[in-house]
Amino acid sequence: MDKQYKKVLSFGEDLGEAQQNILIIGGGLCGSLLALRLGQRGYRVSVYEMRPDIRKVNMDSGRSINLALSDRGNKAIKLVGIEDKIKALCVPMTGRMLHDRDGNTTFSAYSGREHEYINSISRADFNALLVNEAEKHKNVSFYFNRKCLSVDFEKTTALFKDYDSNTEFVEDADVIIATDGAGSALRKSYFLGRKFLFSYSQDYLTHGYKELHIPPAENGGYKTNKNALHIWGRDHFMLIALPNLNGSFTVTLFLSYDEGEYNFNNLTTKDRVIAFFGTYFEDALEMMPNLVDDFFKNPTSPLGTIRCSPWHYKGNTLLMGDAAHAIVPFYGQGMNASLEDIVEFDKALDAHVGHWETVFKRYEALRRKDTDAIADLAIDNFHEMKGHVNNDIFREKRTIEMALEKNFPNEYSSKYSLVTFNEHVGYREAMLRGRAQDKAILNMLADGELDLKNNLKSILEQVQKATEAVLEDDRIAQNMKH
Ligand code: FAD
Repeated sequence: MDKQYKKVLSFGEDLGEAQQNILIIGGGLCGSLLALRLGQRGYRVSVYEMRPDIRKVNMDSGRSINLALSDRGNKAIKLVGIEDKIKALCVPMTGRMLHDRDGNTTFSAYSGREHEYINSISRADFNALLVNEAEKHKNVSFYFNRKCLSVDFEKTTALFKDYDSNTEFVEDADVIIATDGAGSALRKSYFLGRKFLFSYSQDYLTHGYKELHIPPAENGGYKTNKNALHIWGRDHFMLIALPNLNGSFTVTLFLSYDEGEYNFNNLTTKDRVIAFFGTYFEDALEMMPNLVDDFFKNPTSPLGTIRCSPWHYKGNTLLMGDAAHAIVPFYGQGMNASLEDIVEFDKALDAHVGHWETVFKRYEALRRKDTDAIADLAIDNFHEMKGHVNNDIFREKRTIEMALEKNFPNEYSSKYSLVTFNEHVGYREAMLRGRAQDKAILNMLADGELDLKNNLKSILEQVQKATEAVLEDDRIAQNMKH
């Protein structure tokens, strides 16, 4: 019996509560980690997943093949006690490798503190491990090829289609939690049901994405630096690449559907695809022998932000993960946020076990401000990654921040560090402080008030003072609104 499990069983009153049946819709990363955690807490958990068992089939293309896992995701992994198993699936990425149009590269560390880095992990391997770990609990069962069609949130029942037998069936439960991603069936039922005041918005970017591939080198090694997230930022579009354990990289092209000289709608021939990559990403093209085949075989998918409220209906049903708050991928935080949801949910469960409506309300009240913040930050980072990383003043800011983090590890964290490596600071707080710091440093650089030749301690004090002034202005502006 693992440590976390023992701790929960010692709650005593949890055992009665644990007799309850929890139905989870969607066995992706959020759903399977949730099943594992609730299984550890002793609940009877059934997970219904529309896809085949990920452990038995090849992952289909079109969903990101690898992902950047960072400290908020790790916090959730620690909660269930499987960090060593996950670590074995990760390739550390210590910084961004920026590729310019001439093929020159510049490395920019993610943090001035050496122990702070992000990890590339295969979605399929991660998901399979979570399912295996959850299934070790005899009170947790997974059912694959079962698609949820709709949820009756008043009766707490869900209608499923069984793809194996081609039949439909209804399941009931004490509680239904939907972790079925951006296209959530529960969210759709809330919206179409018109039984309560449910708000919903979906904002698409004009850019979509397509996954491509850099295979391993002939000797099985990596064709370019393996410990970096590679970025070819070109102002209006960009290419990124994340390493896989087998020597390959998963490459993602972010490009407008219909704007600019080259866009997804007009890249319709082999010659145009090669001309586009040859013009803008020549060094990447040299590493991608199957570019044209991959380009026409792999789907182009949209990028959007989903917000909705409330996330729950009474104490019957709840949305979690992307189903509640899907975001664009530019901060590498969608999965991390979805995993962190489980840590926050677990805390609400500790505080109010036995009262599902209170648990759901408390969880949503504490969590929403943070998921709203990361949604905004992810859109900001889209612009930073496409263009700002190549801009002199942003590079200068980055140099200063690296020096501050390195020399004052306990006193300074950049916005990126606050979001990515400070898992005990909520996303909203990270956003407010991070934006204020950015504004303070950029203003001082523009006005020639910051000079790296100065004593670093005095630069730190200057930055802290200016940041406080920006935060104070923000507080005054906020108070005037209310
Ligand atoms: P999902 O991963 O979407 O899982 C939902 C599950 O539910 C799936 O298994 C699905 O098959 C199943 N399902 C769906 N509908 C039904 C139904 N009706 N019935 C039954 N089952 C159903 N995040 C990061 O943190 N780092 C990154 O680097 C990163 N990179 C990304 C790159 C791209 C291009 C994209 C698009 C996203 C990226 N993300 C990243 C975000 C991340 O993919 C999501 O936030 C994360 O997958 C959300 O997990 P989830 O379990 O909530 O939803």
